[in-house]
Amino acid sequence: MKVSSPLEVYKYLPKTNCGECGEATCMAFAAQLIERTLNIEDCSPILDEKFKGKYEELTQVMAPQIRLVKIGTGENTVLIGGEDVLHRHQLTFYDKTALAYDVWDTMGEEELVERVNAIQNFRKFYVGEFLTLDMVAIRSTSGDPAQFAKCVKKVSETTDFPLILCSFDPKVLEAGLEEVSDKNPLIYAATEKNWKEVAELAIKYKTPVTVFAPDNLDTLKSLAKSFLEMGIEDIVLDPGTQPSGEGLVNSFSKFIRLRRAGISEDQRDIGLPLMSVPMTAWMANEDPVNAAYWETVVSSVFIVKYADIMILHSMEPYSTIPETTLNNNIYTDPRRPVQVDSGVRAIGNPDEKSPVFVTTNFALTYYTVESDISSNGIDSYIVVVNTDGIGVEAAIAGGQFTPAKVNEILTSADIKLEDKVGHKTLVLPGLAARISGETEEVTGWNILVGPQDSGRIPGWMEGSWPPK
Ligand code: SF4
Repeated sequence: MKVSSPLEVYKYLPKTNCGECGEATCMAFAAQLIERTLNIEDCSPILDEKFKGKYEELTQVMAPQIRLVKIGTGENTVLIGGEDVLHRHQLTFYDKTALAYDVWDTMGEEELVERVNAIQNFRKFYVGEFLTLDMVAIRSTSGDPAQFAKCVKKVSETTDFPLILCSFDPKVLEAGLEEVSDKNPLIYAATEKNWKEVAELAIKYKTPVTVFAPDNLDTLKSLAKSFLEMGIEDIVLDPGTQPSGEGLVNSFSKFIRLRRAGISEDQRDIGLPLMSVPMTAWMANEDPVNAAYWETVVSSVFIVKYADIMILHSMEPYSTIPETTLNNNIYTDPRRPVQVDSGVRAIGNPDEKSPVFVTTNFALTYYTVESDISSNGIDSYIVVVNTDGIGVEAAIAGGQFTPAKVNEILTSADIKLEDKVGHKTLVLPGLAARISGETEEVTGWNILVGPQDSGRIPGWMEGSWPPK
């Protein structure tokens, strides 16, 4: 069982309080290991030969409840699993659900390259970062090893994204593996019928492998156990994804039972990443729009609980945008608000007559204000106050948004506003109106109170800027 208290972790550490890890004491370091904000290797003394035994034991007792599996190589490597909790408020979820989109070996070459490029080039700006897709799943629809190999070769020439090679025929899988044996692809899948041959492939090519047993958890567990006994550890479990009705309810309950067994019951032989295949919705729906809709619904269910990787088909924005957005939200740390750096930002091409707006470093607030200003072509500066990622109203009430903090930015930021603008007027958010007088006193700048909603800044500008 994974250790969960700093005192237990402390037993394995050198206990010299040398401070090399950046923490004042070994106990403080132990607390950071539990929080997963530092790694064992950040304690360099423990890497010394004389602590080898302790290091190995600590690595074992600190391993995540759900095995961390790597797919692919280089900078696009995808990590799946690595989770320790059933509910994100208990700690956080760490490794996002890896979203793989399919291509198939009966596609024409031009269409194939176009789809692979669409997968690898997908970008959606969201709260300060770009959401992306993660992997390409190559399906054998021809059943022909040579055709599959040709398709795998073309895909791997087009992208460095990690790959899933999909076929139940070991000969087809091996033909694909021959093309990308150095790229650590995931094999999909070993079943009750082909498991011995697929296990041999996983050993020969040293690749992670998916074990698939739809609707039978006992078979799934027994296959996983056999693979572990053969020395194959990088295993992904696919308990089947039924796309609708009673079948969907059963699939959902299997994901929960497997994850509970891995985390709460410490069953290490099935504490493994889970795969869902929402593209089964395309088998149940003839109409493509309905199929894409249900695929998106099913993927949302399993992003929330507990798919670590999934194979999808619809590349329509009404599928990819909600899927990537939900995935991003579930895997943010619920204990820490999403923040941007504090300081002064120039928006557009401000000059000495441009307004200076003030806001907080809560990412949602900042990007809303920034977008309302930039999309209306208002060249300006934004003073971003460090409120620990809290929005304006709550930060005023909680004391994180104060005149002193506004002044701190004005006097210490890289961009010296006094040198940039030919006025001394700040525009405070309407929700911060009650600290306007004190802000004027502390900063020595004149204060204008802007609208409560940044969407009204353009209208407010017409009547209030430049100040009379
Ligand atoms: S580096 Fe290791 S031994 Fe030194 S204080 Fe940190 S945890 Fe303790």
